[in-house]
Amino acid sequence: MTTFADLKLIEPLLRAVQAENYETPTPIQALTIPHLLEGRDLFGCAQTGTGKTAAFALPILQRLAANKVAAGPRRMRCLVLAPTRELAGQINDSFRTYGRFLGLTQTVIFGGVSQNNQARAISRGLDIVVATPGRLLDLKNQGLVHLDRVEVLVLDEADRMLDMGFIHDIRKVLAAVPHRRQTLLYSATMPTEIAKLAESTLRDPVRVEVTPVATTAERIDQRVLFVNHENKRALLGEVLADPAIGRALVFTRTKHGANRVAEQLEKIRIRADAIHGNKSQNARQRALDDFRAGRIRVLVATDIAARGIDIDGITHVINYDLPNEPESYVHRIGRTARAGATGVAISFCDATERPYLRGIEKVIRQAVPVVEDHPYHCPEAARAANSNRSPARRPPPSRRGGWSRSASTR
Ligand code: AMP
Repeated sequence: MTTFADLKLIEPLLRAVQAENYETPTPIQALTIPHLLEGRDLFGCAQTGTGKTAAFALPILQRLAANKVAAGPRRMRCLVLAPTRELAGQINDSFRTYGRFLGLTQTVIFGGVSQNNQARAISRGLDIVVATPGRLLDLKNQGLVHLDRVEVLVLDEADRMLDMGFIHDIRKVLAAVPHRRQTLLYSATMPTEIAKLAESTLRDPVRVEVTPVATTAERIDQRVLFVNHENKRALLGEVLADPAIGRALVFTRTKHGANRVAEQLEKIRIRADAIHGNKSQNARQRALDDFRAGRIRVLVATDIAARGIDIDGITHVINYDLPNEPESYVHRIGRTARAGATGVAISFCDATERPYLRGIEKVIRQAVPVVEDHPYHCPEAARAANSNRSPARRPPPSRRGGWSRSASTR
């Protein structure tokens, strides 16, 4: 088995990795770090939870440390673009963690907060900048940031950036960075636009694909509960009555829905908070910190707000609403089962959501086992859905014994 030392990482990085208690590289790390150290471009099909942040941060840190030069005022040597502020913050934290013995400089740039500190941080030049595209371009347009010294460019979660309408911003960034550079592009899904972007951006890239959709989904114990729309609230209370659910991430389709669900949970004395795009950066950060520290048990989120949030120990993902895009389902349930752990994903499905369930099952290439043994089971929704269902691969788990992973399944 490959070790981090086999990957020819320098001692300060090995020490940092050891301090994080990483024992062996994940597949994407073992497969890509050697190529990235050689300066190759990369086209990676990988989602969060695969260890991809360390897979790019470690070799980038090593290359920057090997040749310490000043970027120059308002400039950076490595630029990482990410779709959301949460993800940008986490990538920045990862660089800091892995690079703590190297003495490189870095900052994170994102919208929704005052730009003054960000402009000040970069005024003398930095080794690494992690940014969301919009704010980065704002600063660039004001002449507060220049991109002409970028040696390494990372586009993380490129498909999400596209979904969020950042394609023009990305093209502007690409036009402003030097032609000679190393470029890494990561995307969880591979729609045509991503293939086109890769084609026009990468030079002879190494291609890797890790944890194809089905593999991640298989590690997670998934269940679907058919329920009338108006009973979802009561069902959530019922499910959360199980103390085995330590830390649950609940997904709703809308921001209002997220607020409503969090408020209803608080009413029945379940500590909960919501994160979504209408909340201030401070409120979102507070909710995430509370969730991480265990001060709240349930975090209710919309898809975009939950992008990239990296919280260990999420025991359950609950889809209060099913997403209409199957890929979102895969992203959502991937929040549990991080880096090899296992987890449980529970989905509520009402009659209107049956087509979504069908789409999801096609993508994950398996039927999600049905739990009927709950007080709000809706036979109509179940019957109609079942007419088109392929049989479950394993027997449906029973309600008895709680909602935690049943010992018999793994
Ligand atoms: P990512 O896919 O980058 O979001 O990483 C997912 C999680 O895996 C993070 O919590 C990392 O701290 C963790 N991680 C990354 N690499 C390793 C490793 N080699 N061994 C154990 N955990 C890791």
